[in-house]
Amino acid sequence: MNKRKVRVRFAPSPTGPLHIGGVRTALYNYLFARQQGGDLILRIEDTDSQRFVPGAEAYITEAFRWLGIRFDEGPEYGGEFAPYRQSERKDIYNVYIGQLLDAGHAYYAFDTPEELESRRKKTANFQYDASSRMQMRNSLTLPAEETRRLIESGEKYVVRVRIEPDELVRVNDLIRGEVVVHSSVMDDKVLYKSADRLPTYHLANIVDDHLMEITHVIRGEEWLPSAPLHVLLYRYFGWTDTMPCFAHLPLLLKPEGNGKLSKRDGDRLGFPVFPLEWEDPKTGELSPGYRESGYLPEAVVNFLALLGWNPGNDQEILSVDEMIRLFDLSHCSKSGARFDYEKGKWFNHHYIRTKADKELANLFLPILKAHGIQAEPAYVEKVTSLVKERVNLVKELWDLSAFFFSAPVAYEEKTVKKRWKDDSAARLAELAEVANSCTPFDAQHTEACVKSWIESKGYHLGNIMNALRLALVGESKGPHIFDITETLGKEETIRRIRRAIDVLK
Ligand code: GLU
Repeated sequence: MNKRKVRVRFAPSPTGPLHIGGVRTALYNYLFARQQGGDLILRIEDTDSQRFVPGAEAYITEAFRWLGIRFDEGPEYGGEFAPYRQSERKDIYNVYIGQLLDAGHAYYAFDTPEELESRRKKTANFQYDASSRMQMRNSLTLPAEETRRLIESGEKYVVRVRIEPDELVRVNDLIRGEVVVHSSVMDDKVLYKSADRLPTYHLANIVDDHLMEITHVIRGEEWLPSAPLHVLLYRYFGWTDTMPCFAHLPLLLKPEGNGKLSKRDGDRLGFPVFPLEWEDPKTGELSPGYRESGYLPEAVVNFLALLGWNPGNDQEILSVDEMIRLFDLSHCSKSGARFDYEKGKWFNHHYIRTKADKELANLFLPILKAHGIQAEPAYVEKVTSLVKERVNLVKELWDLSAFFFSAPVAYEEKTVKKRWKDDSAARLAELAEVANSCTPFDAQHTEACVKSWIESKGYHLGNIMNALRLALVGESKGPHIFDITETLGKEETIRRIRRAIDVLK
């Protein structure tokens, strides 16, 4: 067989916002596709009409746009295997359901929900399988004419796969090795429901992976139990030669390491589990997202890449190009990856520090606007450069730099007590004069002017600097004091000094 072009897919069901674990799955597919010179496909698995949530698909598309994960094919991107929404592929699945029925690998079942329920009550651990199917109401137990009559009369039915017992089903997993399951523990899963005229996940997933020429199925561990059925379906269809390789990624675990990461962990510990903010269309409930919480996409990508994979050494900061070069499914761990959100912040801090001032300032502008502030982009850029070293989240830029945009209206009491001395008003009045005659007003020159004045008068440097900071900032924080004066400019610096004297004298 010729070596096929690598084609992978991310196949979310639009049942709500995309969980961060799904983002990681998509990222690994992306890295693998790029490394192999292959294609990445987005397929929307919307065959469960009960769980369909409007807006979820648009959310998914927007999240990947923000993260910089680009697909080669998908509903928005087109491609030669279109359509990429399963709800638009109904007719295709019908053909394949028919094929399984004709070959005897599937059968019609008419059991009502009530009948199934009463069976479950009677038999503990009831399973619809080889041991029980002959006692149920299906096309294996009913005469052929009766089956036909029921279908024609519009009776609701499902199509179930017919799993033969006593056989070992082998799944070769690139991460887990060979996983062997005894077919007797597998049940006759539903492949199609006449009620909504749609196939279930299993059938649509397999048929599409086959038709879309998928070579590798990289997905979350929660799908591992489905893999034996998928292997059997490939065989029933006669597609074993082109069956994709499987790779089931480890779970994302709670920060404490016990159990699966959930939205509740995020709420409890104060971190998002979704890439973007999400408003539930039914309840209006708002769930926080990484973007709105002040994360950079490059930080989220780097953080997620290392949750379940490592480059083979302890390098932590990796560009996307490096990840693409180094990514290796055999370096993915089998055991769950603890979701260390503090580490996520650490990555964000790194990427904020190293981001160009101008780009960071662009992210800061809307935050300023939300605070009612219109400022010159060049000024915002300068302020950003002064505070970004100390920021973990983009929105913290505001906390550290608000005083650059609005002069203090009040002065922090405890700082006033500690830093405002009896002679502070007199000294600052002199300082305002010194500042006024200091030209140019850049940090270096102003610092020299001020220091030589203090020296010539024999004043206490620390006291004056502390009082000056209080006047300019309103409290005792902030970057280097002469970076502040330079940024504020001479006029504003003097104005703030005079105002502090007025208020605090
Ligand atoms: N639609 C499934 C999901 O929502 C896809 C699982 C798979 O990748 O096969 O995760």
